[in-house]
Amino acid sequence: MSDMSDVIVIGGGVIGCCVAFELAARHRVKVTILERAVPGAEASSAAGGILGAQIESHGKPLEPALFGFLLASRERHAELDARLQEAVGVGTGFRRCGVLKVSFRDDLEAQYGWQRDRDVRISFLGGDEARRIEPQLSTAIDSAVHLPDEAQVDPPQLLRALQQGCAAAGVKFMTGTTVRGIARTNGRVVGVEVHDGIVEASAVVVAAGSWSSMIAGLPERLRRVRPVRGQIVAVETRPPIARNIVFGERGYVVPRPDGRALLGSTMEEVGHVKDVTVGGVHAVLSTALGLFPALAAAPISATWCGFRPATREDRALIGAVEPGLFVATGHHRNGVLLAPETARVVADLVALGRTDRDLSPFDPTAR
Ligand SMILES: Cc1cc2nc3c(=O)[nH]c(=O)nc-3n(C[C@H](O)[C@H](O)[C@H](O)COP(=O)(O)OP(=O)(O)OC[C@H]3O[C@@H](n4cnc5c(N)ncnc54)[C@H](O)[C@@H]3O)c2cc1C
Repeated sequence: MSDMSDVIVIGGGVIGCCVAFELAARHRVKVTILERAVPGAEASSAAGGILGAQIESHGKPLEPALFGFLLASRERHAELDARLQEAVGVGTGFRRCGVLKVSFRDDLEAQYGWQRDRDVRISFLGGDEARRIEPQLSTAIDSAVHLPDEAQVDPPQLLRALQQGCAAAGVKFMTGTTVRGIARTNGRVVGVEVHDGIVEASAVVVAAGSWSSMIAGLPERLRRVRPVRGQIVAVETRPPIARNIVFGERGYVVPRPDGRALLGSTMEEVGHVKDVTVGGVHAVLSTALGLFPALAAAPISATWCGFRPATREDRALIGAVEPGLFVATGHHRNGVLLAPETARVVADLVALGRTDRDLSPFDPTAR
């Protein structure tokens, strides 16, 4: 791509900001992010920040192309943290804290045993061994799986660091700007339609999260993205309740080193209704208390919710759709985890027209 070319990224969430950062910082492409609100306004700042490449398989053996992508993106977070620290002096809160998934009755070996044959660290523990790692865990827990290489970031901090990184690399932000549709001339993408005209660019990347399918002019065959609401309760614990992120059967506790702990989360098909509800908070708190009874004394500092961009097949949409039109959306529960590797491959596709990754798990068009 020549120096004259420019790219519009629709959406300033973690995906859009990461794609813009890669394009500008690594490929020296001129990029503008068009964001309806402010960068990080939606799901990306609401997230727990779990980089759960191994835990998020939910007990199903994953095909190598998908598992490889998840693991690669987790590792790229370490690199992104270092790059942003160096470029702008702000890190992402990256911490290799580990994940402990505990069980009261499930057979965790049956769910995660397949990972023994892959090149990853995993160990299966009894309840007492799990409590040696996290002493505050409930005595009712009788088994656990420990994934010491899983990690976390602090999403609001990640978004701030990315915005600074983008700005330092020359990315322009047009905030308060809603994209109505894709603009074409003679069938060729020439930019996007906004309220007062067309913003021109030679390539457009759709990264509008759970609103992606609402953009006019996307091809019919593109897989659809819908919102799945998740609610979070933030509490304060001194000292931190745990070091590892702890998953139960229905939710998780994400401890931060400063004593905050994020308790999550619900999975609700309610459209874009941005409510924190009594039922949602109740579900989140009862799961967390089942894991750590001592949380009963923790003060609640905040509650919020956000919309995961989900697809029917539970696979993200990553790739080229037609000349000049690319998508990077539908990352559902794992958008923060998958952002760096998504950004690397999309930036390569936009700037070079090729990628070294097998993107077949993420085919953006309906099969
Ligand atoms: C409660 C909760 C917990 C989560 N926990 C984790 C976790 O621990 N780990 C993990 O990896 N993932 C997690 N996720 C998922 C993760 O947050 C998402 O997958 C990810 O943030 C999606 O990023 P995005 O940039 O695609 O979407 P978003 O962050 O939603 O960004 C899309 C942006 O596009 C903008 N936009 C939309 N339409 C337009 C338009 N027409 N014109 C201009 N701008 C537009 C929006 O304003 C928004 O800023 C969680 C999600 C939730 C809700």
